[in-house]
Amino acid sequence: MKRPIIAGNWKMNNNKAETKELISKIAPLVKDAKCEVVVCVPFTSIETARKAARGTNIQLGAQNVHWAEKGAFTGEISANMLAELKVKYVIVGHSERRQYFGETDETVNLRAKAALNAGMKVIICVGETLEERESGKTAEVVIRQTEKALKDITKQELKRVVIAYEPVWAIGTGKTATAQDADGTIKIIRKVIRKLYGRASGQSIRVQYGGSMNAGNAAELMAMPQIDGGLIGGASLKPEDFAKIVNCAS
Ligand code: PEP
Repeated sequence: MKRPIIAGNWKMNNNKAETKELISKIAPLVKDAKCEVVVCVPFTSIETARKAARGTNIQLGAQNVHWAEKGAFTGEISANMLAELKVKYVIVGHSERRQYFGETDETVNLRAKAALNAGMKVIICVGETLEERESGKTAEVVIRQTEKALKDITKQELKRVVIAYEPVWAIGTGKTATAQDADGTIKIIRKVIRKLYGRASGQSIRVQYGGSMNAGNAAELMAMPQIDGGLIGGASLKPEDFAKIVNCAS
């Protein structure tokens, strides 16, 4: 049985005090969750989050990672630096990174491999823009992004990979893909995995939906056969809403 995974992407929100407060509010609300619960916090809040989450079922995640071990990469953070802080999950290829910070399919792949090499798990984000969707390119885009992100990642390493299907037009906009649409696109992603790694991997890899998932629509999305969880932005900052989503996935 696959264990669903709900991950909060806090983006550039919550200083140390706010991090402590938010985790202390979320923890009792999700303590009986059957799914995995992850919070991906800003780098500067990782240490605080780790302490606040100690003894709870909340796992620690980061929002990005650099591929080099160390060196002249001003402003970047290496995989070993994150692993040392007990980070378990790293998001790579979030559309905001692709859109605003020049992230490419190639750098997404490098970042994913670096995180996996350091022993962490990755949440690889893929998804089409509105323009791509309207020109009928959704399948083409998610196939390309998935294939390129997974280049040279072994079948063994794939066990530590989660894919997040996040239509860009649905992120932070309040617009959600219909459950059927999201399910259909995730089916295409699974087909790519099946082609690259075999039937069993195509079935066993966990694929989340992300994009304005909230307390009101989570149950419908989570009920879809292809959806194994959610990557949650805005709603992950509201403890009750986040907990409701977690409980829908449980
Ligand atoms: C995200 O940041 O990955 C996300 C899905 O954001 P939101 O839930 O706010 O759309």
